Amino acid sequence: MNSQITNAFTVDVEDYFQVEALSGVVNRSDWGKHKCRVEKNTHKILSLLDESNQKGTFFTLGWIAERYPNLVKEIAGLGHEVASHGMSHKLIYTQTEAEFREETFKAKAIVEDIIQCEVKGYRAATYSITKKSLWALDVLVEAGFKYDSSIFPMRHDRYGIPSADHLPGIITTPNGGDIIEFPISTVKNSLFTMPIAGGGYFRLFNYFITKWGLASINRNNNPFMFYIHPWEVDFEQPRVDGLSRFSKFRHYNNLEVCERRLQSLLSDFKFDSMNAVLDSMTLSRTKY
Ligand SMILES: [Zn+2]
Repeated sequence: MNSQITNAFTVDVEDYFQVEALSGVVNRSDWGKHKCRVEKNTHKILSLLDESNQKGTFFTLGWIAERYPNLVKEIAGLGHEVASHGMSHKLIYTQTEAEFREETFKAKAIVEDIIQCEVKGYRAATYSITKKSLWALDVLVEAGFKYDSSIFPMRHDRYGIPSADHLPGIITTPNGGDIIEFPISTVKNSLFTMPIAGGGYFRLFNYFITKWGLASINRNNNPFMFYIHPWEVDFEQPRVDGLSRFSKFRHYNNLEVCERRLQSLLSDFKFDSMNAVLDSMTLSRTKY
């Protein structure tokens, strides 16, 4: 293993037709018409974690939890943390505060009912807590979340707060509340900010680059947070028609190598759930 630092391994549990890159051609109202592949694909990730004796956090979409309660129970039963990925996968900054409050409380309650345990963590759809939707942090405090992992400290067309700190810490919400933020990990230096810790970036960069980037975060004595989606280990998923070339690239690029790379990652680094990693840290106040 690369380092003795324990990092956070996270999975955003949603199906292939629910992602933002496909939202222009797949209506939310048609989600029920698609054959779900999320169970099979989540099982692949659970097996990889089991083989490497590692634990993680599964941010589960309420829509999935409602339909697959046994999957959620199984994840918790295997000793992983189950957290919330909201209900509808709508970008937060396209919702009103009232809409967001309603779906956030509902999604948390659905998962808590299934696992009979408090849900501590939240991750927004497409990391959509930005400067336009900081009010969402107050709703998360109100709903009783201990931590959030939705802020991507970089510039991007759909997400990102470039000024946000790149390490975990306690942030003060607009209304003066406190919540722990574990931002999406990046390699940051005076020249550039490089997204390195999962999803499309994990499929885009050669594994050698990912390993170098993540190891450099550990070399500075900091943990990183890695994220992946069940559909990213599903090379055979049905192809959706009508996508732009860019969306096609974002969604389908290098799906065939993802499972193998995950295996390497899990043997090269030490992982645990988000909650366990945060519990082992002394957190100071940070900014966004
Ligand atoms: Zn998602």
